[in-house]
Amino acid sequence: MPASRVLDELLPRRSGPLPRVAVIGAGMSGLALARVLTGAGFGVRVLDTGRGPGGRLSTRRSAEGGSFDHGAQYFTAREPLFRALVDAWVADGVAAEWRGRIGTLTRGAVTPAKASVRYVGVPGMSAVAKALADGLDVRTGVRVERVAREGLAWRLTSETGEDLGLAEVVVAAVPAPQAVPLLAGAPTLAAQAGTARMSPCWAVMARFDAPVAVELDGAFVEDSALSWVARDTSKPGRVPGERWVLHGSPEFSAAHLEETPEAMAPRLVEAFGQALGRDVRAVEAVAHRWRFAMPSPPLEASALYDAGLRLGACGDWCAGPRVEGAFLSGVALARRIAAS
Ligand SMILES: Cc1cc2nc3c(=O)[nH]c(=O)nc-3n(C[C@H](O)[C@H](O)[C@H](O)COP(=O)(O)OP(=O)(O)OC[C@H]3O[C@@H](n4cnc5c(N)ncnc54)[C@H](O)[C@@H]3O)c2cc1C
Repeated sequence: MPASRVLDELLPRRSGPLPRVAVIGAGMSGLALARVLTGAGFGVRVLDTGRGPGGRLSTRRSAEGGSFDHGAQYFTAREPLFRALVDAWVADGVAAEWRGRIGTLTRGAVTPAKASVRYVGVPGMSAVAKALADGLDVRTGVRVERVAREGLAWRLTSETGEDLGLAEVVVAAVPAPQAVPLLAGAPTLAAQAGTARMSPCWAVMARFDAPVAVELDGAFVEDSALSWVARDTSKPGRVPGERWVLHGSPEFSAAHLEETPEAMAPRLVEAFGQALGRDVRAVEAVAHRWRFAMPSPPLEASALYDAGLRLGACGDWCAGPRVEGAFLSGVALARRIAAS
């Protein structure tokens, strides 16, 4: 079955006049919600400030023509609906199992991890977001700043003052701190979103001119400024090379949040060397700051929705951290909107 059909046919198709839905955020949660409601017959428009869809499911080009997954590293699939979608992505060639050697790295000591099935987008993590967005009404490069009541609808305005039109239902599918101002029209929801904390992550994209000698392709790092490192080029369908993604730990990233990317890149490459137990020299190292990387901890709400005001929010900070949690949150909110 083509991947899109898993969500397009989840809810029965409705006829007759349906409320217009505006989704702010084209990450996993917003796209899953948009896909389900579009399939059910709603007119759905997705708006995102990024250059393309995906949010934290993100792939960035490297100077030599390869790429880095500098946000989400892989995803697991436990719930039947998400498993069905992932199976369909695999059949479509949009995702594949990553059979890299995963373990723990503690100052040069390697401990293999328990076997687990991990998936990645192909040729990069953003491929699954692009597949979800295919055929939807998605506008990128626009930041929504204001959601204001107008009669029975909501008027959306961009940060440049552009009128983005009216919708009866508005969903903020963005990290919790960014959802708070968008939910101002529903103070109870805004207050709930305001209680969700998210930790930051400095991510470094590092290229080496020779293979880094370590018996691992992905490692949780202990006793270090890093929490995770991965040989990006060990993932399926990548351009060959020796590219690694290094993630600063939440504690390190929070303590150095306002430093420059230029300062953070060499610092975390050096930490990589310490974790390996020997010096390494990168030929390219670029740092990216994720200000809102992971919920810590998420709310236990699946999604937020005020059926009277028709304003809601979804994302990994509602249902559970990670890609699958974001997906489930988006689907849960789509069901609630359709049911009301
Ligand atoms: C460094 C890092 C590593 C991770 N590793 C993993 C992993 O290995 N496995 C895993 O499962 N998960 C991982 N995650 C978490 C995973 O990426 C997220 O749980 C998931 O992608 C969140 O999806 P979302 O839709 O909730 O939010 P997002 O992906 O954050 O999407 C929100 C979107 O909203 C847009 N936006 C925000 N404000 C506005 C606005 N005002 N107007 C318009 N658009 C706006 C943003 O541009 C973004 O595209 C990682 C995350 C990070 C950052």
